[in-house]
Amino acid sequence: MRALPEGTTEERLRSALEASGHRHTAQRAAIYHYLKGVTTHPTADEIFTQVREVLPDISLATVYKALEAFVESGVARKLPLGGGSARYDGRTDDHDHVRCLRCGKVRDVVGAHDSDLIRGLDSEEGFEILDYRLELIGYCPDCQN
Ligand SMILES: [Zn+2]
Ligand SMILES: [Zn+2]
Repeated sequence: MRALPEGTTEERLRSALEASGHRHTAQRAAIYHYLKGVTTHPTADEIFTQVREVLPDISLATVYKALEAFVESGVARKLPLGGGSARYDGRTDDHDHVRCLRCGKVRDVVGAHDSDLIRGLDSEEGFEILDYRLELIGYCPDCQN
């Protein structure tokens, strides 16, 4: 992953977007600000609903394009999780996720898994293993009863 330049969040966003050929706009800054401020790993629809409160003229297409630009610039991640719609994460360091089977809520996992152990796994048919995706699943506190 590319290291982000120094500076305020907004300056970093601007340099990251421009370095990868994307435009920095006030709408994108607002979307990024929202995404960085939550730990809920929202879907594009959820981001749209929230950001529209401050920017009533924004469209869902603008949100999707902004999220694509963030992912390509390395300032956000699109999570490769099971379940419904794609979710986005403003946290770009390596970390794992847990997803609630009932309500679909996604949160960060505390601690790290042993990646050497997983990389030591092999397939029966001699697959060339490139990477892996780890997703913990279970029930969140609200859904346990
Ligand atoms: Zn739940
Ligand atoms: Zn996360």
